[in-house]
Amino acid sequence: MNLKDYIATIPDYPKEGILFRDITPLMADGPAFAYATQQIVDYAREVGAELVVGPEARGFIIGCPVAYAMEIGFAPVRKPKKLPREVIEVEYEKEYGTDILTMHRDAISPGQKVIIIDDLLATGGTIEATIKLVEKLGGEVVGCAFLIELEELEGAKMLKGYPYKSLMVY
Ligand code: IMP
Repeated sequence: MNLKDYIATIPDYPKEGILFRDITPLMADGPAFAYATQQIVDYAREVGAELVVGPEARGFIIGCPVAYAMEIGFAPVRKPKKLPREVIEVEYEKEYGTDILTMHRDAISPGQKVIIIDDLLATGGTIEATIKLVEKLGGEVVGCAFLIELEELEGAKMLKGYPYKSLMVY
């Protein structure tokens, strides 16, 4: 199955000059979504993941079915003021200014093997901040998985040798 057949490409969204890769056609197609999810489940098994961590919002869409298939837990990474209990936070660089991501302080057990799952790797800021959160909480990042990697933005450099898999590369 060629997963790229299920990705819509939108020029100048959300801003002029940006080529947005839209995964909603893939999500809308049962067999394609199941196939993509299964690829990531296979990878998560290979790396021995015990917990899925996913950044909002599309990391939830891909991460949760993987956690369900493996019968392991899912822990959300969220913007500030979204999680109701005690959190830790990490600040990271965006194209313009900085942003903050948070996780519940008790989301990960010490030494737990974590796979981080998101829809797309662009500049790598989101994944770098998420790795920091997981490690601050004592988790071990055993792998990262993405549906899509935008190669020219060089997000892989931010992964600094952490193992990862992307199902589609543009
Ligand atoms: P990064 O932090 O620059 O690697 O950006 C990755 C985050 O931005 C992911 O959580 C994506 O959901 C989102 N993102 C960036 N570019 C796109 C795109 O073209 N399509 C969908 N999501 C994108």
